[in-house]
Amino acid sequence: MAESADVVVIGAGAVGLCCALELARSGRNVVVLTRDEVGIGCSLGNSGLVLTSVCGPLAEPGAIGQSLRAMRDPDAAFRMRLRADTRFVRWLWNFRRCCTREAWRAGLVYTRDLIRAGRPIFEQLAKEAEFGYRHAGVLALFKDEASFESKAAANQVLAELDIASQQLDRKQVRQMEPRATDQVVGGFLFPEDAHLNPRQFLMAMAGLAQRAGVRIVSGATVSSFLTAGRRISQVVSSAGNLSCELVVLAAGAWSPNIARRLRLPLLIEAGKGYSLTRHDGEGGFVRPVRLGEIRTVVTPMGGSLRITAKLDLVGLNLDLEPGRWERIPVLARDYVRLDDGFASIQPWSGLRPLTPDGYPLLGFHPAIPNLLLATGHGYLGLALSTITGRLVSRLAANGDPGMDIAPMHPARFTNGRRAGP
Ligand SMILES: Cc1cc2nc3c(=O)[nH]c(=O)nc-3n(C[C@H](O)[C@H](O)[C@H](O)COP(=O)(O)OP(=O)(O)OC[C@H]3O[C@@H](n4cnc5c(N)ncnc54)[C@H](O)[C@@H]3O)c2cc1C
Repeated sequence: MAESADVVVIGAGAVGLCCALELARSGRNVVVLTRDEVGIGCSLGNSGLVLTSVCGPLAEPGAIGQSLRAMRDPDAAFRMRLRADTRFVRWLWNFRRCCTREAWRAGLVYTRDLIRAGRPIFEQLAKEAEFGYRHAGVLALFKDEASFESKAAANQVLAELDIASQQLDRKQVRQMEPRATDQVVGGFLFPEDAHLNPRQFLMAMAGLAQRAGVRIVSGATVSSFLTAGRRISQVVSSAGNLSCELVVLAAGAWSPNIARRLRLPLLIEAGKGYSLTRHDGEGGFVRPVRLGEIRTVVTPMGGSLRITAKLDLVGLNLDLEPGRWERIPVLARDYVRLDDGFASIQPWSGLRPLTPDGYPLLGFHPAIPNLLLATGHGYLGLALSTITGRLVSRLAANGDPGMDIAPMHPARFTNGRRAGP
């Protein structure tokens, strides 16, 4: 006979672990099934930012043209490999439809509010466990006068949307960040932003969840489901069968492959990024620095220093392409003084689970009443992890999330239908 649990959470990244913790604290008996060790996934090697200063959808006017032009530039921040695959074409078609000023603005405002709703939860968790959570702001640096000025104009729009920044000239930048090079012409401080150490965060969430009674089974690859009518009755994984009342799908960029077992088409594309981490100190940085034109982030995180960059729409593969990561520290050195040690570091790659419109897929799926989706968090899954956990546990308790979650409707691209026969 299959083992049983109230709730099975699939995935132990930041999102799955926060869901498991909140569900267990609300009194549910929770088992987390994860293919890899705890935290292995996109949540491990990211920039560690909990920020509102960059939280708008990737779909904005001009985004497609920009990434097509970038296909010829090996140093470009974004890249896209066109594929003749119907799911990718549908994703692109929906992405293209969202590339309007109005949709971008609405997405930014909604996401800003979600991140703000999650911040007190981070602060509470930081009292319970150490994961390097610091509210020190993020500094954005620019070395090109024209892009500095255009960012100043863009920041006016952010200010109208209640996201404050402080403009800094060359001298003020150097006072605030002595490691800035002479090439930097100016910058902006976003005081609202915070950062943390992702590895410590994942370990802390796993520890708190286990203390709350969650059982985490690693090496458990979910391969299929048994159903009874429209409901899932058992989750089938390499660790055996588990019967349950409720399934939370939180498998990041792999979620569509798992949902396909239920004949649910999910529009999520993987956006590959790279990071390089040194573990011998924070390199003299006190806060994260965003290197404006090259969309690279340097984050000091609890005794280590990490550089993160690139967003490549190249499918579900974690291949390390030297042409994409080798020059990351070289380009970063135009903005900040970094020592040579990054050259010998083995890079990490991770896959952001990107939806076309930038909103996560969150809520009960209309086709399968006991399937809750908590996925598709794009480039903000860490920042959105705590509020996602809270919303999922409220939905599981009484179906009332306590806020408007309609924009995240999990079947918004498919009208709730199932694919296939
Ligand atoms: C370079 C880079 C920088 C980033 N910086 C930031 C940042 O500063 N701030 C921010 O908020 N976000 C950032 N992100 C995005 C963020 O990392 C992701 O949105 C987030 O990690 C997604 O979390 P997740 O839990 O959904 O997925 P993941 O962390 O990828 O976890 C997925 C889980 O599913 C499991 N799984 C997969 N398949 C199966 C299966 N068949 N059976 C069982 N388990 C399975 C995996 O083992 C894993 O545990 C960044 C991403 C990248 C690549």
